[in-house]
Amino acid sequence: MKSFSYHRPRSVADAVALLRAHDSAKLLAGGQSLLPVMKFDLAEPSDLVSLAGIAALREIRFESADGTGGGAASGSGAGVLVIGALATHDEVSASPEVRRRIPALADLAAGIGDAQVRNRGTIGGSIAHADPAADYPAAVLALGATVETDRRRIAADDFFTGLFTTALAADEIVTAVRFPVPERAAYAKFPHRASKYAVAGVMVASGGGAVRVAVTGAGPKVFRLPALEAALAARFSPDAGNAAVVAPADLRSDGESSPEYLAHLVTVMARRAIQACL
Ligand SMILES: Cc1cc2nc3c(=O)[nH]c(=O)nc-3n(C[C@H](O)[C@H](O)[C@H](O)COP(=O)(O)OP(=O)(O)OC[C@H]3O[C@@H](n4cnc5c(N)ncnc54)[C@H](O)[C@@H]3O)c2cc1C
Repeated sequence: MKSFSYHRPRSVADAVALLRAHDSAKLLAGGQSLLPVMKFDLAEPSDLVSLAGIAALREIRFESADGTGGGAASGSGAGVLVIGALATHDEVSASPEVRRRIPALADLAAGIGDAQVRNRGTIGGSIAHADPAADYPAAVLALGATVETDRRRIAADDFFTGLFTTALAADEIVTAVRFPVPERAAYAKFPHRASKYAVAGVMVASGGGAVRVAVTGAGPKVFRLPALEAALAARFSPDAGNAAVVAPADLRSDGESSPEYLAHLVTVMARRAIQACL
């Protein structure tokens, strides 16, 4: 690993200024993805800008539809769960607010990696890294979340642009993810036996008459399943899982999993997620 300078700004504005001042600076959150990449010399940043000193980025809060912090948690218009970018997977899984408003999201966070990864890794780092097998991207897309940055809000459908790539600019910082509270949601994944990354994971969410389904792990990036969404919107039942059909040609192919196997896994995970919603 090459040597680098370390910075610990106290505000988002100072962090942006540091990114702009150093051409090959990188943000550091939990380090669970960036540090392995640096150890393999796949990234050689001149400067690491740690977010650890910006306490406001850890906040998890609920905003009700009328703009207050109270209110019931069911149905569309039921409010928004706002999770700060620096909230660790462990903090998300243990948060009473997340457990109450979107239990499927708390369960998803609890199923990431191992205890060490969950204690250090953050939601902001996970979605900015955009690993095609990461779990959070499925939740962001299926729940129709909005990614909040230091300068704008990005809809989930526009955020993940490709393999390890997002709509973020090089000097842009994710500050929070805003999840509308769904009527029902569930995530099912077939985990890799060593890392727990999703070989295939499917999140199903519904609210206000709309259904969204997102698949992670199986393709080069997280993607939606419009045919299954339409079938579930017409009738929310396990039978609709038959519409969870993906073309193997659209899926990844590697030494461990054939596209045909991944396509089958997506159908099975979709059925499990639908069943868990009922
Ligand atoms: C052994 C192991 C097992 C794992 N298993 C799983 C798993 O089962 N499921 C899963 O989803 N993930 C898994 N992960 C990944 C883990 O969840 C990471 O925590 C996550 O991918 C990155 O989060 P981080 O906070 O560590 O980010 P970092 O590693 O610090 O940063 C990752 C990237 O995001 C950028 N970044 C960080 N924060 C921000 C921000 N706020 N705004 C903009 N850019 C930012 C960094 O510059 C860097 O490019 C695993 C990792 C390991 C090492």
